[in-house]
Amino acid sequence: MILTEVFGSNVFNDKLMRERLPKPVYKALRQTIEKDLPLRPDVAEVVANAMKDWALEKGATHYTHWFQPLTGFTAEKHDSFICPTTDGGTLMEFSGKQLIQGEPDASSFPSGGLRSTFEARGYTAWDCTSPAILKTDVAGNVTLTIPTAFYSYYGEALDKKTPLLRSMKAVSKQALRVLRALGNTTSTKITSTVGPEQEYFLVDKKFYLERIDLMLAGRTIFGAPAPKGQELEDQYFGAIKDRISAYMHDLNTELWKMGITSKTQHNEVAPAQFEMAPIFATTNIATDHNQLVMETMQKVALRHDLVCLLHEKPYAGINGSGKHNNWSLSTDDGINLLEPGHTPSENVQFLLVLSALIKAVDTHADIIRATCAHAGNDHRLGANEAPPAIISIFMGDELTEILEKLAKGQKVSTKNAQFVQVGVDTLPAIPQDNTDRNRTSPFAFTGNKFEFRMVGSSQSIAGPNVALNTVAAEAFDEIATRLEKAKNKNAEAAAIIKETYQKHNRVIFNGNNYAADWPKEAARRGLPNVTNAVDALKAFISDKSLKLFEKYGVITHKEMHSRYDIYIDTYAKQINIEARTAIDMVTRQFLPAATEYATFLAESIASFKDVSVSAPVQEGLLKKVSGLLASAYKNLGKLETATAKAQGIADTVKKAEAYRDQVVTAMKILRTDIDALEEIVPKDMWPVPTYADLLFKL
Ligand code: ADP
Ligand code: MG
Repeated sequence: MILTEVFGSNVFNDKLMRERLPKPVYKALRQTIEKDLPLRPDVAEVVANAMKDWALEKGATHYTHWFQPLTGFTAEKHDSFICPTTDGGTLMEFSGKQLIQGEPDASSFPSGGLRSTFEARGYTAWDCTSPAILKTDVAGNVTLTIPTAFYSYYGEALDKKTPLLRSMKAVSKQALRVLRALGNTTSTKITSTVGPEQEYFLVDKKFYLERIDLMLAGRTIFGAPAPKGQELEDQYFGAIKDRISAYMHDLNTELWKMGITSKTQHNEVAPAQFEMAPIFATTNIATDHNQLVMETMQKVALRHDLVCLLHEKPYAGINGSGKHNNWSLSTDDGINLLEPGHTPSENVQFLLVLSALIKAVDTHADIIRATCAHAGNDHRLGANEAPPAIISIFMGDELTEILEKLAKGQKVSTKNAQFVQVGVDTLPAIPQDNTDRNRTSPFAFTGNKFEFRMVGSSQSIAGPNVALNTVAAEAFDEIATRLEKAKNKNAEAAAIIKETYQKHNRVIFNGNNYAADWPKEAARRGLPNVTNAVDALKAFISDKSLKLFEKYGVITHKEMHSRYDIYIDTYAKQINIEARTAIDMVTRQFLPAATEYATFLAESIASFKDVSVSAPVQEGLLKKVSGLLASAYKNLGKLETATAKAQGIADTVKKAEAYRDQVVTAMKILRTDIDALEEIVPKDMWPVPTYADLLFKL
């Protein structure tokens, strides 16, 4: 493989557009992309034609408007290019209109009451800021895939992309005002960027197919721990096995073809756990790419008789999977706003941006947390798994010290930097390599970006980035308003930095976020600690959030309510699936298997007795097995009752709460019986593959 030839070969990228489009059309399209101008129909017509020619040359038969409904997954309906002619032949058709707008039946996607089936009209609109690609499969099918936004007849967002694009606009506008106020005249746009590190598990397909919990719920609902877990720390960054590197090679090839910058790959902490990280891109493109990454990981795994598990917690007792959302802001002329500068004046800007984010994250910790709230992530956030559900910022000792001293009006000196007079018009030079690493913080400053670690491995990164962009927009807005009015900008900047730190320093925590006393300390500081999705999601409809998202034109009240309804409903449905799966497995697999073993023991005892030999071992085991069987049977009944009760509740929030409080608890209790049985029932009688099979036979 020649990497330079493969990379981007299935992308209708800028180079192709420049080559294939007449100059004025290319220029008009670039304007649309860069300046968010509306796309002219005549331009769309020419672009569609060029795109079609390219796709056909590459063997495409179909095109699709690819979108991201509120399921968190992606959706696509394929249309072939054929257009029959009167002489029985066919033309290849793809018009400008077909490129810019589609009309899928929206009725089967969650809308949270934004439209009912009788008014199912929904539209998809080309998002020309994310390039069209060709998706290919093993059978040789090639589909021109056009990233689109999905909205209702009345223009309400029904997807993840629309608010993301709106939030990018909002943060660009407000951050630019700050830069202007500080005297920047060259930057014209600010883009939020993200590099999402994607963790995942691989499991042998034959074992996966024998576990309906993995198949239907994405995680093992039962399973005794294997004698070995991750305690030897021999997996992280370990040598990659051939079978896995063959998989990674195919995965990378597919990703590279689609222009996805797969960069880093390594073994993760848990057995059978891995990670892939791309090079960062705009939040919009990175979100599209991350969806493609998840899809491709799963698709390519099957080619290797593997299954890729993206669930946050496929296995109890070992690490789960997250997605580290590395986020920053950059100007169109290449300034990373979170990069400390070389001069004090550059650092005014850096410290202001930092202050804006400290304020934003402290003020809106609840909504940021809420964007990571779903059933799968409840096994991580606030459970005995990293990171905690408390939002705090890791700033590193050095930066914290600088901020602290500025807040106190003290002279700032740092280990690596010169002494600098801090006062009305100077601010310190910030040492470049200014942060240590803190792997436990949910929101860590890592030198030139923030690493938001709460995001779940299976979820779309759109929501978290919508929240980050929007809370940042608000903070920049407030700062800009102050600076614009101020006569002495530097003095005002210094005042803002000082006041922000004084008011919001409670959110800064450089210590160990896993330590048992951190929740207590956080409570003392008044930081929210919402340990479950159902409660966390309520932040979506708090007055504060509703106002915030509406004010910056990102999500209307109506859209926020619809999102909240969908996410709450999805939580209940997810737990219902888990409960029904648990009931099914216990009733039809585990109880029969344990009964079979009990019968075998009873028969053995009887036959020993026939020849007048005592059977204390069998009797001991039988007692244990039948005790656990009785307990499991009783706890199965409790789970059935709790599930039926939850199913019967009409109010969606109360229903979700019942699933969280009663059903999840009943499932956990039942699990202890079943896992204890697994540990004594003979391996060949146990009806499903064990953790040792799933985690180590790879
Ligand atoms: P680590 O595991 O040490 O945190 P990785 O290299 O695995 O680091 O991932 C870091 C991620 O951060 C990469 O995806 C990288 O592209 C991304 N990143 C780097 N700079 C920026 C930036 N300015 N904005 C957003 N993401 C960035
Ligand atoms: Mg990493």
